Amino acid sequence: MNIAEWLAAIARRRPHAPALLDGDRVVSDYAGFADAASSVAGYLAEQGVVPGDRVGVYLANTPRYLELLYGIWWAGAIAVPINRKLAPAEVATIVADSGASVVFTGDVAVPDTRGPAAPVEREPGDLAWLFYTSGTTGRPKGVMLTHANLIAMSLCHLADVDPIGPGEAVLYAAPISHGAGLYGLIHVRMGSRHIFPPSGRFDPDNVLVLARKVGAVSLFAAPTMVRRLVDAARSKGADGIKTVIYGGGPMYLADIQDAIAVLGERFVQIYGQGESPMTITALSREDHRDPGRLASVGTAQSVVRVRVCDADGRPLPPGSTGEIEVKGATVMAGYWNDPVATADAVRDGWLRTGDLGRFDEDGYLTLAGRSKELIVSGGSNIYPREVEDVLVGHPAVAEAAVVGVPDPEWGETVVAFVVPAPGAEFSEGSLDELDEHCRDRIARFKRPRRYHVVPDLPKNAYGKVLKTELLEKP
Ligand code: ATP
Repeated sequence: MNIAEWLAAIARRRPHAPALLDGDRVVSDYAGFADAASSVAGYLAEQGVVPGDRVGVYLANTPRYLELLYGIWWAGAIAVPINRKLAPAEVATIVADSGASVVFTGDVAVPDTRGPAAPVEREPGDLAWLFYTSGTTGRPKGVMLTHANLIAMSLCHLADVDPIGPGEAVLYAAPISHGAGLYGLIHVRMGSRHIFPPSGRFDPDNVLVLARKVGAVSLFAAPTMVRRLVDAARSKGADGIKTVIYGGGPMYLADIQDAIAVLGERFVQIYGQGESPMTITALSREDHRDPGRLASVGTAQSVVRVRVCDADGRPLPPGSTGEIEVKGATVMAGYWNDPVATADAVRDGWLRTGDLGRFDEDGYLTLAGRSKELIVSGGSNIYPREVEDVLVGHPAVAEAAVVGVPDPEWGETVVAFVVPAPGAEFSEGSLDELDEHCRDRIARFKRPRRYHVVPDLPKNAYGKVLKTELLEKP
């Protein structure tokens, strides 16, 4: 059970099917893709890499990236994909922590070595991918994902996210080291074309041009990328885009409503985390038709059970907010080299996500933010996500982040950081108006007591807001 078998199988069945595209130009068919992966495996064996060794990939999104990734698996080694946007010190930490013996970087050519004809056999529980979390709430942790995890996750996409037919395509707009790479796996199984935008970076206009040329294109995009894609599609249209899968961070209600108005029924939302990759809940294409569902992240995916618990780990009924826990085929094998953190995160097979949320009676989950970001004011819980959604609902606000700051009287009070929408300007008067907008929509105690108007929010390499940095500013 080696995920590289998927590549080997398609290469046998449809050797001449186009596989890897540089822009709209086919650079390899499936036979060539599998040969390249086998050569990489041969090269790694020559370097002394044996099954179970870690091999890093620190590259921009290119066709070569997939050849290396599958070559690492073909050799039975464990891939350590490293986000290209990380700073050198962060990369060094990941390389040292994982103990990678080889790291592919720079302008790597696939070595001209003959490798094994078939991928090395692996057991379902053998590790395939060391996934370093983005470190939004602490230092990045090496999540151990097995071949079985990746296979379950990928098959779940077909059932719960988006069925994929022959001749479709996937476009790598976001880093392969994270959601886009995970989403690409099922597209190897289905024999899709894999499109790499030439710049290796996310350029929404270019994505739309490529989608129109190639057709039947799906992509995984972080919420900030969806916003930019929608802006570009407003004038250019989005012919050729089949599905946009978004997730990995909060998508505000106002933004998804706008996205649907421009692009129509092409969206699927997923809620997941490295520890249960891409697979906790999904809000399907059909669910996006119901305006009442759009503030939720959908229902539990097929291979997991999801529950909401109180602080003592007791399951709560629908309507109550607590910590989200997940159990099932996609839950990680643990954190690399960190049995203490693993024991803390996974109990009796239930992964504690660190995210807060509540189910409704129909099984739809609504997120309320991360437990570390919960604000407690005057003994009442305030969920930042709820306040942020209200702020972003105001036409003059493009982005918002809400944090709790210590307060002698209330314990904590709410402080908001708002980024003005293009063309909007903030004065004392408009802040009063924003305050009134909040008063009309949320309880008084949840309203921000102070506002900071900022040109942008501090974000990490994945575009996630770093609230810890905001906390230091007021
Ligand atoms: P660290 O654990 O190191 O702080 P991280 O949790 O940001 O980093 P990831 O595993 O990349 O690392 O991110 C997963 C988190 O992203 C989830 O736990 C959740 O908080 C958030 N998230 C994922 N999908 C969604 C979504 N659809 N809507 C809102 N938030 C989401």
